[in-house]
Amino acid sequence: MTLVCVPILFDDPESAAREAIEARDAGADLVELRVDRYFSGRGGDEPQGECHQQAERIAQLVARCPLPCIVTCRPVLEGGHYDGPDDARIALMERLGASAGGVAPAHGGAGRAPSYIDVELATFLRSENVRQKVRLAVDHPGQVRAVTTGLILSSHDFHERPPDLLRRLEAMNREPATRVMKIAFRARSLRDNLELLDLLAQSRGAGGAIKPLIALAMGPYGLMSRVLAPKFGAFLTFASLRRDSATAPGQPIIGELLNLYRFGAIGSATRVYGVVGWPVEHSLSPAVHNAGFEAIGHDGVYLPMPVAPGYEPFKATVLELAEHVHLDLSGLSVTIPHKEHLARLAHQQRTGWGDRWSLDRLTELCGAGNTLVIRRDPKGRPKGLAVHNTDGAGLVGVVRGAGVEPAGAEALVLGAGGMARAAAAALALEGARVWVLNRTPERAEALCADIARAAAALPEIGSAIAQRVLPIGRHELAARAPGIVVQCTPLGMAGGPDPGGSPLGAPELAGLPDRALVVETVYRPARTPLLDLARQRGLRTVDGSALFVAQAAEQFRLWTDRAAPSRLFDRVVRESLDADVAGP
Ligand code: NAP
Repeated sequence: MTLVCVPILFDDPESAAREAIEARDAGADLVELRVDRYFSGRGGDEPQGECHQQAERIAQLVARCPLPCIVTCRPVLEGGHYDGPDDARIALMERLGASAGGVAPAHGGAGRAPSYIDVELATFLRSENVRQKVRLAVDHPGQVRAVTTGLILSSHDFHERPPDLLRRLEAMNREPATRVMKIAFRARSLRDNLELLDLLAQSRGAGGAIKPLIALAMGPYGLMSRVLAPKFGAFLTFASLRRDSATAPGQPIIGELLNLYRFGAIGSATRVYGVVGWPVEHSLSPAVHNAGFEAIGHDGVYLPMPVAPGYEPFKATVLELAEHVHLDLSGLSVTIPHKEHLARLAHQQRTGWGDRWSLDRLTELCGAGNTLVIRRDPKGRPKGLAVHNTDGAGLVGVVRGAGVEPAGAEALVLGAGGMARAAAAALALEGARVWVLNRTPERAEALCADIARAAAALPEIGSAIAQRVLPIGRHELAARAPGIVVQCTPLGMAGGPDPGGSPLGAPELAGLPDRALVVETVYRPARTPLLDLARQRGLRTVDGSALFVAQAAEQFRLWTDRAAPSRLFDRVVRESLDADVAGP
C-alpha cells in the first residue's frame, strides 16, 4: 500500500501540531515534519542554548504527533531552509532516534520516535563521521541499540533529471542502513515521469530488485508520478494540506489526491487516461471522467497532461506514453492546441505502421481529432489506436436531443477554427447544408475548401458533401434562414477577446425562423450574450456545458464501452462552473 504523507513546514511547533491533526483528519497516513525553518542549529548544545531548546520542542512535537512521522531538516542546498552547521542537525536526528527508548511507532498509532528521518544522500556521503552518526540514530541490520527509526536517504534536483540519477540510486540502495530511498527531480516533460515509474516498479513488493522507493517528478509535468505512485508500488506520495502549503512544485493537495483522483482505488491494473493540451490545469475533464469511472466501477484514473505547443512535443509524448507497456494508457482527450496534431499523427503513423492506427470519418473530414482510444494486448502493447472527433459527434447529439433533425436542415456555423471545422463536417455528414460565417472570410472559404478536398479523397463519403459546406456573407443570412446556428468563436467567453460580444446581434436573430435552434459552444460562463439574445427572441438554445457533456460522454463510451452517466457529468460540470463564478 502506498502511503499518503502530508509535509508540514513550520516556524512554530504549535501550528505544526495543529496541522498534523488536520492532516490526519484529511486522510493522511503520515506527516513529514519539516523542521528546517524552525530549527536554527545555532547556540551549541548548552541546556539553555537555542539549539537545545528547539530540539526539545521538536522531540515533544514528535511524541504528541497524531500520525507516524518523518523528520526532515532540509538544507538550503537541497531546496530547504536550514543554513546552520551539519553537525547540529545530525545531532538533532541522533537525539530524536535515541529519545524513543525503542518505542515503535506502528502505522496508525502515534509513537515517541520518528518513524523515519530523511537525510540527503549528498550529506550522508560527505564524511565517515556523518555516516557513523546517522547510522547510530537509525535501525539497520548492524544496529546494537533499541532504535526503531528508519532512514530515508534522499536526493533532489530542482532543475532537471540529474545525469547521475542511477548512480545516486545505487549508492542509496547499497547503504545497509537505508530503509527507503527517495529521488525527486524537476520534470521537463511528461516523458520524465516514465523513468521514475519504471524505477518504482523495480522496487515493488517484498522481493523488489531494489529497496522501497519514493520517486517524484516535480513541477507541472510531474503529477503523473505522484498520482500513479500506487500503481507502481511507491512507498509513499506527498500531498499538501492546502495549495499554499506545498513543499515542492507540483505537489497535489490531499483533497484532490484522495477525492478527485481516487488515490485509494489506484492499483497495478488501473488504466490511465488524460487530457493532453496547453494549458490544461483548468480543464473540467478530470472532474468529469474520474467521477464517471467511479460511478460505473471502471478501474481507471484520468489526469491533466500538459504538452507544450508544437507538433514535435505532441508526437514524441503521445507515442512514448502510448507505447509504454506498464503505464496502461488507454485513452486521451486532446484539446487546444493539439487537435490537428492528433489527426496528423494518426495519418503519419498509419502510413508507417500498418493498420494499428485509424481515424473516424469525422476526423478525416475536418482534419482534427479530440479523442484517442488505445486497445492493448495482454502484454500491455498497444494493438489499436483509434482517433475520433467527439466535438462533432457531441454536437449532432445535442442538436438531435433538442428535437432538431440535421438531415435536410440549413445550418449556420459561426467561426472557422477547430470547433467550427468539426461542427461543419459533422452536420454535413448528417445531411445538413452548412453555411460558414467568419470574421475573416478567407478562413471560412479555406474551411469549406479543405472539407471538400478531404471528402473527395474518401470514397465512402463522396464529393457531394462539397456542395453542402459553403461560405456565406453576413448580408445573405436572412435569405438562408438557418434552422440550426452553432456559435464557434470565443465571443462571450470569460477571459476571451470579447466577453461581452455576440457574433449575431438582435436584428440578425430576428431574421431567423421562429423554431431555430442556437447552440453555444462557449461554456465559461454558462450564460453568454448570444444565449441571452436568442432567448429574448424566443429561440430554442443549448448552452456550451451541454455540448461539453455530450462530447465527454461520447469519449467515455468509446473508452469504457459503457454509456456515460450523463446526468452526473452534467452535475459535475455545472458545479465546477458555479465554483468558478464563486471564486476560490
Ligand atoms: P479557434 O480555432 O481559435 O477559432 C476561433 C474562431 O473564432 C476563428 O474563426 C476566429 O476568427 C473567431 N474569432 C476569434 N475572435 C473573434 C472575435 N473577436 N470576433 C469574431 N470572431 C472571432 O477556436 P476553437 O478551438 O474553434 O474554439 C472556438 C470556441 O469553441 C471556443 O470558445 C471554445 O471554448 C469552444 N469549444 C467548446 C467545446 C465544448 O465542448 N463546449 C469544445 C471545443 C471548443 P478568425 O478566423 O477571423 O481569426
